[in-house]
Amino acid sequence: MFFGGLPPGFEDAFGGGMPGGGRGPRKQVDTTKLYDVLGVEKNASSDQIKKAYRKLAVKNHPDKGGDVEAFKEIQKAFDILGDDAKRERYDQGGEEAVDGGGGGGMDPFAEMMGRGRGRAGASRAKKGENMVHPLKVTLDQIMKGSSRTLRLTRKVIDKQKGVEQCSSCGGRGAKIQTIRMGPMIQQVQKTCDACGGQGMMYRQEKRQETLEVHIPKGAPDGHKVHFSEKADEIPDGEAGDVVFVLQEQPHPEFKRKGDDLFIEREISLSEALCGFAMDLTTLDGRKLLIKTEPGEVIKPVAYDPLGEAPESATWSVFENSDCPSLENAAVAETEDLAVCKKAVSKGQLKGKGIGCFVCRNGKTVFKQCTTEQAMEAKAPSSGATLYVLQDPEATKDTRMMMAVKGEGLPRLKAPFESGNLFIKFTIEFPTSISVADLPALKKLLGPPKIVAKSKEGDDEVEVVNLTSMDPVASFKEYQPAEEEHEDEGGGGGGGQRVQCAQQ
Ligand SMILES: [Zn+2]
Repeated sequence: MFFGGLPPGFEDAFGGGMPGGGRGPRKQVDTTKLYDVLGVEKNASSDQIKKAYRKLAVKNHPDKGGDVEAFKEIQKAFDILGDDAKRERYDQGGEEAVDGGGGGGMDPFAEMMGRGRGRAGASRAKKGENMVHPLKVTLDQIMKGSSRTLRLTRKVIDKQKGVEQCSSCGGRGAKIQTIRMGPMIQQVQKTCDACGGQGMMYRQEKRQETLEVHIPKGAPDGHKVHFSEKADEIPDGEAGDVVFVLQEQPHPEFKRKGDDLFIEREISLSEALCGFAMDLTTLDGRKLLIKTEPGEVIKPVAYDPLGEAPESATWSVFENSDCPSLENAAVAETEDLAVCKKAVSKGQLKGKGIGCFVCRNGKTVFKQCTTEQAMEAKAPSSGATLYVLQDPEATKDTRMMMAVKGEGLPRLKAPFESGNLFIKFTIEFPTSISVADLPALKKLLGPPKIVAKSKEGDDEVEVVNLTSMDPVASFKEYQPAEEEHEDEGGGGGGGQRVQCAQQ
C-alpha cells in the first residue's frame, strides 16, 4: 500500500525484479562426493555402482573390524546412487536435494520475483506437490522382489501452446488499482482474475502414465519408491514426484521381524524328543525339507519372540537384601521399578556397567558391578529390595529357538545376504502313557528332579493324587461371603455357606 502521489519508480519497486533480471548466484553444491565414496566415475552404470558397493561393504563391514562411520558413508552413498530417482536428484542438487525432496532451501526472494520468467540457468525452480499413493505388497513379493505396472492420471501442461505471460497482469499475478480520495491516491493490489494470481496462462490436459513400480527384495513396510517429476506439472517449476509407499500385508503363515521370518508348527512330544523332518514351501516357492539334528531335543519356547522387547534385560529379585560393600554409582528419587529398569536398559544409565540396584524408602541406589560381584556382595538388609541383573549370556540361552539359517528375507541394501527363518514349536504332550512303558521311559529320560522324603504309610502323611482340573471352572464355584449377605433369597450354587455375624 502506498500513499501520496504516484512515484515515478513505482513499477520497478513492485514488479521490476532484481538488477539483471536474474537471480543471485546459487551456492555451489557438491554432486561428486558420493561417487568418490564408492570410488566410481560420475557416469558409472548402476551395475558398476552395485559392484563397487558390494566390494566396499564387505571390506568395511563393522563385523569384520571395519570403521563404523566409513561403513555408514558407504551405505549412504549406495542408498542414493543405487536408486535411479535419488541419483538423479543428487546429480542435480547434491545431498540436500535428496534429503529435502529437492527445491528446498532456496532463496524465497528469488522465488517470489522469478515468477513467469522461466528457469534461470542451472538453478532449480520450485517443485510441485508430490503425489503419494499407498501400495499393498505381499511378503512373497518382498521375498522375491517384484514389479507392478500401475497406471495413473496426471495433469500435464500443453507444450504446444506453452506457458505465456498473463497479458492482463503482465505476469505479476496481481493488478494495481488506484483509488483517489480527494488529494490522496491509494494504491491497492488485487489478485489478477485472468490468471488466478499465477501470472501465467497455459492449458492443462490429463494424461495417463504407466509406471513400473519396482518392489526391491527385502523392502520394509513403509518403504518409498520415487518417480521423479511424475506428478502434476506446474507452469513455473518442475513437477513433483510420484511416491509409492509400500504397505506390507499380513501373511497367513509367515510373520516378519526385520529380515527374519517366523512360523509356528505343532509337534508331538515324540517328535520333540526323537527328531523329525518337515516340508516347507518358502515364500519364493522353493521346497525345503527341514530336518532336526539326530539326538537334538526341541524345547518349548516360553516367550513370544514377536512380542514386546523380549531382548530386554531380566532381573533377579531378593527381598530384604542389599549390597552395602559395593560403591554407589547413581541414586534415583524413586522406587518405580519400571523406571529403574528402563534407566539401566535404555535410559541414562545404559552402558554404565550397572549390575544391580537397591530400592529402599522411596529411593533407588544403582551400583556398578558384574552379576557375579553383586551376588557375592549380597547381604541381608531389612526393608531393602535388591535387583540383580541376570547374566546376559545366561538369559540368552532361554531365548534360543529353532531356526533355519539364511532362510529369512533378503536384506534390502545387501540382497545377497538374508535373515533367518525361526520356527516356534508347540509341543503336544500325550494324554497318558501305558503303565507298562514307564520303567523303560524313566530309564531313558534320566534321573528325577523331585525326590520325596516321605513314604506311603508313614505316620502323619496323607496320600493324595494329582488330577487334571480347570482353574477357570473352579473359580466360578467361588462365592464371596458379602454376596451371600446381599442376596439372601438367592440360594446360590451350593458350596459352603458363610454366615455373617449380625448384631
Ligand atoms: Zn494475470
